Amino acid sequence: MTRPRTPLMPLDDALAQLLAQAQPLAGVEQVSTFDADSRVLAQDLVSALQVPAHDNSAMDGYALRCADLAGTASLPVSQRVAAGSPALALQAGTAARIFTGAPIPAGADAVVMQEDCEVLPDQSIRVLRPPQPGQWLRRAGEDVAKHAVVLSKGERLTPASIALAASIGMDQLPVARRPRVALFSTGDELVMPGEVAPQAMRPGAIYNSNRFFLRALLQRLGCVVTDYGIVPDQRAATQQALRDASQAHDLILTSGGVSVGEEDHVKPAVQALGQLNLWQIAIKPGKPFACGRVGGAHFIGLPGNPVSSYITFLVLVRPFLLRLQGATQLVPQAMALPAHFNWPRADQRREFLRVRRNAAGGLDLFANQSSGVLTSAAWGDGVVDNPAGQTIAHGDMVRFISLAELQA
Ligand code: AMP
Ligand code: MG
Repeated sequence: MTRPRTPLMPLDDALAQLLAQAQPLAGVEQVSTFDADSRVLAQDLVSALQVPAHDNSAMDGYALRCADLAGTASLPVSQRVAAGSPALALQAGTAARIFTGAPIPAGADAVVMQEDCEVLPDQSIRVLRPPQPGQWLRRAGEDVAKHAVVLSKGERLTPASIALAASIGMDQLPVARRPRVALFSTGDELVMPGEVAPQAMRPGAIYNSNRFFLRALLQRLGCVVTDYGIVPDQRAATQQALRDASQAHDLILTSGGVSVGEEDHVKPAVQALGQLNLWQIAIKPGKPFACGRVGGAHFIGLPGNPVSSYITFLVLVRPFLLRLQGATQLVPQAMALPAHFNWPRADQRREFLRVRRNAAGGLDLFANQSSGVLTSAAWGDGVVDNPAGQTIAHGDMVRFISLAELQA
């Protein structure tokens, strides 16, 4: 019997439809700035001060007025200014001993680093290289102006950006609430590592590997994960688990059981409790994908093949979860890099080929691109986003997307 083929949905359409469902979660959480890395900022951060607060020295050396060096190379030292202590106005015709970060005495217009000065027996200094006005000065406000927006609502915080927030005095930051995600694995063939030793695995049994990257990726995205493990192979139990999960979660995420004609209890259970869409997406690996709702929770069903599940998560679920947190940047920037491989057979689906950057600045291809070969994803440091119908010849420029960014 041949089924009528469902037309494949372009990835961009699927993403747009999915994102249209993702209303940013209500509620702002105040967290310690220490704990804010990779969270999404919920409000613009406006600086109440300028950084640096005062002109200060970028070097250990001597602060002076350049004009005072017009007739002489040597100046007496009239004060010593350390970081954190105030400076007196500079006496005309003198230099101030100064250290990195110390405030510039009023009237000084340059710093000469100590390596460019000689200390004379009477403790005055001779300047070996006359400075230009402004040399080695860090200007007040050159980093952050007063009232400037230093970080914008919707930015995902990084180690550098939490430090920037600290530099304007923020010890707490307003961030989006963490999405609560219920994770289910499906499939009677699945066994958890540790439950059965490799030598004792029955024929057809495989370890549940998807659960590991899914949980790790969800955690990296700031989600609170409830892992329901492998769902029991019974209709009533599945329905009960989904109903429970829908009450305290923003998203129910499953892997496996979304292929056409699959023996699986999740699809009918979601249909019975809520609403289910089954899509065939024009990507490889990937294709089967389910989404919908169960009660108050979103539902997303990923394919079971490990690399399909992994790629589908990265290109669809990741932007969805970032949008729930109000993030503005949902997909990483791709870059053009030369392929150091041939890909002679075009596919009718858009492909995400697992590749690795080489020392020559090009991309090497993992030989086996099968959707079951997890080694390709662990070996790769990125994917080539190859349009449908496109072959690749050695040297062609292709769209590379870093896995470090996709997995962040
Ligand atoms: P399915 O989408 O359920 O038809 O599964 C497709 C393939 O992925 C089958 O070979 C499954 O055994 C495999 N698979 C499904 N779930 C997992 C999982 N959690 N870990 C590893 N492989 C899986
Ligand atoms: Mg299955």
